Amino acid sequence: MSCNCISEAEKRITEALRKDFPDAEDAELSNKALLTDGRVKVFLEFESARVINFKKGGSKRNKLTTKMLLSKCPFCGELYDEPQTALES
Ligand SMILES: [Zn+2]
Repeated sequence: MSCNCISEAEKRITEALRKDFPDAEDAELSNKALLTDGRVKVFLEFESARVINFKKGGSKRNKLTTKMLLSKCPFCGELYDEPQTALES
């Protein structure tokens, strides 16, 4: 079972924002990933770029991003659950 630190942090941030801005919408962590099994994990995003040179001249800078899922909750350190790979019988 995973912790609920992300939703708790979002609630705390929303409450803090609404002290100054009562009409603020719910705060949401921007770097969280909803997995196909319903779990939510935090990820880090890395950026790079490459330059594409065209034969006719000129070039274009192409941004490259890669995401890395964390294996532990960044708030409490709990290990995220691993997906079930075997059925119990
Ligand atoms: Zn946690």
